[in-house]
Amino acid sequence: MAQHETDQPVNDEFTVDTEDCEERELAHRERGTSRPITVVGNPVLHRECKDVTSFDDELGRLVDDMFASQRTAEGVGLAANQIGVDLKVFVYDCMDDEGVRHVGTVCNPVLEELPAEYRLLDDSNEGCLSVPTAYASLARPDYAVVRGQDIEGNPIRVEGTGYFARCLQHETDHLYGRLYIDRLSKRDRKDALKQMAEGTPRYPVVAND
Ligand code: ZN
Repeated sequence: MAQHETDQPVNDEFTVDTEDCEERELAHRERGTSRPITVVGNPVLHRECKDVTSFDDELGRLVDDMFASQRTAEGVGLAANQIGVDLKVFVYDCMDDEGVRHVGTVCNPVLEELPAEYRLLDDSNEGCLSVPTAYASLARPDYAVVRGQDIEGNPIRVEGTGYFARCLQHETDHLYGRLYIDRLSKRDRKDALKQMAEGTPRYPVVAND
């Protein structure tokens, strides 16, 4: 053997999620069926979801339904518990700071701890399909890296800047039972819930009991 080979290369490369976005997103949502969105108060949104352990056809169908639902609700990211499914998977279709579109799926996401110099806070407005019609300013790092698995179970590492960084953090939070309003001050949270009470969602939602 002339060249040194390693059995298990360390994968620190970022997953490419910017190619064929149009085709990939369309293929998912055409196979899928749009489902109504769960809203704040539904227990499935307020507890940690189960890990994905079976990377099978059922998971594929779930992801297709998530892309269809995301499109109907005009979202840029959607977590499985937002359509009532207790599994750690989210999908996204989101622009970054440079106006580049990212489309993908992450199972079992974990946010990487970043060195302090990466933690530049951005206090843009944030909204959530599960808190319909409400928006609030929320400071978050403007750069994020998520590790997880794709729908076949292969390890992936997704990098995001700006609005897409916010999306990766927001969706990962969902799968651990945390909504963005849980990160707001008491007063801002109350205001967001008031906006929601006064507004009418533009997409089907699951009524709470
Ligand atoms: Zn959300």
